[in-house]
Amino acid sequence: MRKPFMAGNWKLCKNAEETRAFFEEFKPLVADVEDVDIALAPTYTSLHAAADALRGTTIALAAQNIFWEAEGAYTGEIAPGMLCEVGCRYVIIGHSERRQYFSETDETVNRRLKAALGAGLDPIFCVGERIEQRRAGETMAVVEEQIRLGLEGIGAEVPPRIVIAYEPVWAIGTGETATPAQAQEVHRFIRERIASLWGDDAAGATRIQYGGSVKPENVDELMAEPDVDGALVGGASLKAASFARIVKFKK
Ligand code: PEP
Repeated sequence: MRKPFMAGNWKLCKNAEETRAFFEEFKPLVADVEDVDIALAPTYTSLHAAADALRGTTIALAAQNIFWEAEGAYTGEIAPGMLCEVGCRYVIIGHSERRQYFSETDETVNRRLKAALGAGLDPIFCVGERIEQRRAGETMAVVEEQIRLGLEGIGAEVPPRIVIAYEPVWAIGTGETATPAQAQEVHRFIRERIASLWGDDAAGATRIQYGGSVKPENVDELMAEPDVDGALVGGASLKAASFARIVKFKK
């Protein structure tokens, strides 16, 4: 049985003060939630404030990216151990905005995944096709390649530590969501690919989140699909009430 997992990605939003204010409102709203894992990924400079606010709760802290070296002359980068030190449990890797604006490739995604696992961080590994790739009927081929190259040299673990986030690029921040059937089709395909790489036990236990304009209005129908195990949420995770409603999706 896979425990649902709702993660919020704040991207370049919320300073430390806004982070504290969010958690003051959010914590009581989800204090009774036990059957869903929750994580929030603030900006690097708000991680400390978030870690302080989350002490004593079951809400996990996530980072939005990671570098693969432990230290050295890499101006502007953050090492895996530094994220552990500040209290991160998860790290988002390979988000489409990293791929689009910061030259992230499947090869660098693979290096980051290995570095995260080596440091004891659980990765949220993002894959997904662009609109022209979907229109050309290439969705499965694109996702298959991202998974194959991203996970190259990474062996099976049961329970698996890698969470996969299927995020069709055309649905991120656009208000346009994949239909539940579209999401389920790709999620099932991802689980089959994981089964062929890691075996049925690991595939059955791997959580696959959907991401792309998830909001209170559409979360219930997405979560009703058998292979949708949670959501990676951008815009709708910025408001405490809206993210709390997503966490408390109707089963
Ligand atoms: C995201 O940033 O991963 C995302 C899915 O954003 P949004 O929910 O705003 O589409």
